[in-house]
Amino acid sequence: MFIDGKWKEAENGGTFDVLNPATGEVLAKVADGGHEDVIAAINAADKAFSVWSSLTAYQRSHYLYTAFQLMMDKKEDLARTMTLEQGKPLAAARNEVQYGADFLLWFAEEAKRIYGQTIPSSRPDQRFIVLKQPLGVVAAITPWNYPVSMITRKLAPALAAGCTVVLKPAEATPLCAIEMCKIFQEAQIPEGVVNLVTACDPKPVGEQFVSHPFVRKLTFTGSTKVGKMLAGKASRHMKRISLELGGHAPFIVFDDADPVHAAKGAVLVKFLNTGQACISPNRIFVPRHMVDAFTAEFSSRVNAMKAGNGMDPGVKIGPLVGPDAIAKVENQVADALKKGARLITGGKRIMDSPLEKGYFYAPTVLTRVTQDMLIFREETFGPVAPIIAYDPADDVIAMANDTNYGLAAYVYTQSTSRAMRAFEGLRFGIIGINDINPTSAAAPFGGIKDSGMGREGAKEGINEYLETKLGGFSV
Ligand code: ADP
Repeated sequence: MFIDGKWKEAENGGTFDVLNPATGEVLAKVADGGHEDVIAAINAADKAFSVWSSLTAYQRSHYLYTAFQLMMDKKEDLARTMTLEQGKPLAAARNEVQYGADFLLWFAEEAKRIYGQTIPSSRPDQRFIVLKQPLGVVAAITPWNYPVSMITRKLAPALAAGCTVVLKPAEATPLCAIEMCKIFQEAQIPEGVVNLVTACDPKPVGEQFVSHPFVRKLTFTGSTKVGKMLAGKASRHMKRISLELGGHAPFIVFDDADPVHAAKGAVLVKFLNTGQACISPNRIFVPRHMVDAFTAEFSSRVNAMKAGNGMDPGVKIGPLVGPDAIAKVENQVADALKKGARLITGGKRIMDSPLEKGYFYAPTVLTRVTQDMLIFREETFGPVAPIIAYDPADDVIAMANDTNYGLAAYVYTQSTSRAMRAFEGLRFGIIGINDINPTSAAAPFGGIKDSGMGREGAKEGINEYLETKLGGFSV
């Protein structure tokens, strides 16, 4: 763990294993932090706040820029660590490191653009001035599916704003977090500004994050269930929260779209990170008369994707994170097949040697998916593509909106009017129009409804770490 600028074991000496999900091998043992460690980290962050927040924006920017350059220098090593502990193919890991570094660069610039405002008063002897100031100590909880970029997406704006941080990464991927803290240390960010607590059991750390009086904000990316629970507790202590939670993205193909082009896009985004992404399409709506053409193109592309160890060249489908993820996918596929879905390809765990040692599930395509199936409602977080046929009389936008989630949605059409109506009518935070990658450090990312609150990246991203202070001056 990295606390107050020093690398530390857990106070109680405990450790836990980090596994390679492609092979089941133990990669490393890391400190299993608990109550005392998190308190020490929060104290260190609190102590560092006065120093860090009183630097100039230019000084903070410089540290972030240095960290960005170090990330670029270490891109290959970071990508390899990520593939080993998280499983994604090396090419995808490199892309993620770049995406992660983009946040450091973007917020190195935004640090200098934290503007307040002056407001005219109706009284001639009064002036209003609005200041933006850092919130204080930020607690950050990050997931395993994007183990580098989810750290920088939170830490870069927090640090740019002048906040200090205690980070708790997911128990499956602490090694990426350790490498990132080495970068912050090498960038000579002052001690206590960034602190890392690794833990096998997140609960004791989470309890302190939501209740300790020094913590002013919780930023969380993970499941809706845990996010709601933590938000409920944090609200009792009036802590600010940002939540980036689950999704159940619709992917709508309109009848004027090219089915081949749409299928190509749908495959790329569905199987990104083996379906383990909150923006992964979970309901692919295709006009009934286009289902055959779409499915043929879609499944031929799926069949061409090689599953395997992400370190091996040409691999497109890495392992799932663990046995629970396999069980969830198996359950959803069995439920769909029982209720009348048709299996086009995949549909089983891969047990061929040597993949049987890891958690591999064959990329799967289901057609005839209907609203009564689990997969129509429940986030899959795995490599299963459910195709749903719709008729001209159906209101496909209403069908797409029929979910508790509201993160990403995708639309394929050649009509600008349809594109605009869909963009306006879909109740989701991120809409890709003929575009499967509507994400960037410069663009606001986040959801509505059960997908969370707050935005990450962009101008909005830094506001999440700022307090608005009003000054009324009698002159
Ligand atoms: P997933 O099911 O995708 O693993 P989780 O919400 O369980 O999603 O995990 C996301 C992050 O939340 C991880 O860092 C995990 O350790 C953390 N987490 C899970 N449960 C708790 C909890 N009770 N308190 C604090 N953090 C938690």
